[in-house]
Amino acid sequence: MLGLMQEQPLLISSLIEFADRHQGDGQIVSRRVEGDIHRYTWADVARRSRQVANALDAAKLAFSARVATLAWNGYRHLELYFGVSGSGRVLHTLNPRLHPDQVAWIANHAEDEVLCFDATFLPIVQAIHARCPGIRQYVMLCEADKLPQDSGVPNLVAYESWIGGQSSDYAWPSFDENSASSMCYTSGTTGHPKAALYSHRSTILHAYAAALPDVMGLSARDSVLPVVPMFHVNAWGIPYSAALTGCKLVFPGPALDGKSVYELIEAEKVTYAAGVPTVWQMLLAHMAPAGLRFSTLNRTVIGGSACPPAMIEAFREKYGVEVLHAWGMTEMSPLGTLCTLKNKHLSLPPEEQMKIRLKQGRAIYGVDMRIVGDDGRELPWDGKTYGDLQVKGPWIVRDYYKAEGGSPLVDGWFPTGDVATIDADGYMQITDRSKDVIKSGGEWISSIDIENIAMAHPAVQMAACVGMPHPKWDERPLLVAVKRPGMDVSREELLAFYEGRIAKWQIPDDVVFVEAIPLGATGKMLKTRLREMLKDYRLPA
Ligand code: ADP
Repeated sequence: MLGLMQEQPLLISSLIEFADRHQGDGQIVSRRVEGDIHRYTWADVARRSRQVANALDAAKLAFSARVATLAWNGYRHLELYFGVSGSGRVLHTLNPRLHPDQVAWIANHAEDEVLCFDATFLPIVQAIHARCPGIRQYVMLCEADKLPQDSGVPNLVAYESWIGGQSSDYAWPSFDENSASSMCYTSGTTGHPKAALYSHRSTILHAYAAALPDVMGLSARDSVLPVVPMFHVNAWGIPYSAALTGCKLVFPGPALDGKSVYELIEAEKVTYAAGVPTVWQMLLAHMAPAGLRFSTLNRTVIGGSACPPAMIEAFREKYGVEVLHAWGMTEMSPLGTLCTLKNKHLSLPPEEQMKIRLKQGRAIYGVDMRIVGDDGRELPWDGKTYGDLQVKGPWIVRDYYKAEGGSPLVDGWFPTGDVATIDADGYMQITDRSKDVIKSGGEWISSIDIENIAMAHPAVQMAACVGMPHPKWDERPLLVAVKRPGMDVSREELLAFYEGRIAKWQIPDDVVFVEAIPLGATGKMLKTRLREMLKDYRLPA
């Protein structure tokens, strides 16, 4: 017997319709690329996202066609979130921090047809358009009078003219909730970047879960600042959860330095902020010397990399801000665990509570997790035994988009590439990473790319790249190289060899020359041994 409840597909358009009808006067504040502050409401987002949908219809974009963005966190980007997905197309948020070669590869792989970009990223568009024949419309997120006349970019239109002539009436279509809604490529894997292709259903379920009290805990009384980029797993889903809860949204635009973020928090009475540790390092470094205090901020969710204990302590003890340590992945929409205490922990002394807060946290309902040994058998939840962390759930990838080599799942579980312990209370703690990538300031650097470039240098016989701890960026790449017999190359020459071949911030911080790189029985480089060899090494300041 089936239940007798109404059947309604879970669609992203329902979020913006809800926000329009129930919290239409809720505020959205954005620092713009132009430098000024822009203000409007959820009703305005709804109206203009309907205009976006009409513009896409006018351009005859098919259902599921990809509309890419290269944009900061801001109101126009938010309109695209709802207008593109709501009308049945797929929003593809490109990462502007990548080298233009990588951006072009990803845009072609995704088969993007429209690219909407902030003025800041015009140079990237100029570098890639000739190589991206599938993109038939470029939309610069600006007023008509700000559109450059001599950009060389074909079919370029200003966003305000593109949507300006369109009607603000639009009937959002209904379709299968499993249809694709947005996509995000991750470089946190081996080989080419791979895309997580989210669905309407996965996005809505994630939006519900993220808003729960022990997860992000968002409410209509909050003023929320997502510093985490909208091109980074949909700003951890905050735009969707915000539409559902009716919180105020504050977008930082391109200004992510400590001073700008602090001023925005104070001016917009921000209660809640989200970002990677590096952003908060910059904020705290700005505040400490001047003795600045927060007037309204009371919670901050920190994830993307392990949150250093000193940061949790500084936020809590010095500034009275609760830190919510979160773990997730692009492949997980991204939320997997969040660290909040249970009732029984409230009577523990502060240092015992701190030990718990440092963990990556408990699984959110909707995410199942386990740790397994090399033989694939599940390991005990004793807080000591560590193994490969696997997850499953309705907002976790089953397959990568157009990926070769079949599904990444193992017995129905997604292998995260993280190594972790889980304790008897279900708190997961990351202890290591089995995937060969480096995460610097929340962004991935592929060890293999770095190694391949070094190996292309005539004087290099073998090269290995490992991540080294760094106080600001969490990790930075170090290149370990073996010179070819009879040939010479200096550290400086080798580092210069990377210029133009990779994004500047991905270039290793240093080179260490060694006689040999430790190899395993199958000839694979033994990075664990290499890290042991380098245990006393420190990156140059
Ligand atoms: P995001 O940065 O949004 O979490 P990514 O897909 O870029 O998503 O990165 C996911 C990876 O980042 C994880 O597999 C893990 O290696 C690392 N990571 C994310 N959050 C944490 C955390 N809180 N502590 C340690 N590592 C983390």
